[in-house]
Amino acid sequence: MECPNCRNTKSTLFGSKSSHTLYSCPSCSLIYVHPMPAADELLRYYQDYHKTPQYTRKLKSKQRRAKKRIWSLRRLAPGKKFLDIGCNAGFAVEAARNLGLEACGIDLDEASVKFARQHYPMGDFRMISAEALATSDERFDIIYCCEVIEHLADPHSFVSALYSLLNTGGVLFLTTPDIAHFSVQQNVLGWTAVRPPEHLLYFSKLSLQQLLASHHFAHIGFRPNLKPTVKVLARK
Ligand SMILES: [Zn+2]
Repeated sequence: MECPNCRNTKSTLFGSKSSHTLYSCPSCSLIYVHPMPAADELLRYYQDYHKTPQYTRKLKSKQRRAKKRIWSLRRLAPGKKFLDIGCNAGFAVEAARNLGLEACGIDLDEASVKFARQHYPMGDFRMISAEALATSDERFDIIYCCEVIEHLADPHSFVSALYSLLNTGGVLFLTTPDIAHFSVQQNVLGWTAVRPPEHLLYFSKLSLQQLLASHHFAHIGFRPNLKPTVKVLARK
């Protein structure tokens, strides 16, 4: 089979979890589910993807954390147009708006978009994919994309859309679980972030660097993190 990131065909069996099999690519270090779940299995899965009451209670602290991150991104961006991809309950869009940015959030989950609109009525929330939005002529100065890419089966069409959606000089901030982090090395399959079919692609700094560079992103830099999350900044 072919690595969904670097297309190498020499992947080896990594293990299995929740009736899904994972393979490891020796070239780029990506770990991925194969075969990818069928569309109807994913649809069934996400229909049961409820927000817990604890999640709603955590919104204020999530908004504060997003505000800190976006404050530092704002200084790097060439303009004020902010896009949150996978905006979920809308807290990052609200944080960006409070920082004076023109903020838009997109999500494919109808319940999330509805929740965001109710909680943050001043925000611009849309149910659309990054790929579909990229076909419009709307462009952004900051793209914020936290814990989304690991849910996808095809990272290339997604990252290509991210690049298209940025203005020249625009900045991408993206996070995803870090499969190569020292804190998870001993028991990767037991790690809570390894949960197919919700998470299909497991990146490291190496595989993410390759993916972004293959779509012409420049100045790709990683923020140090003691927690097992890759935080990457890149520019168009
Ligand atoms: Zn690979």
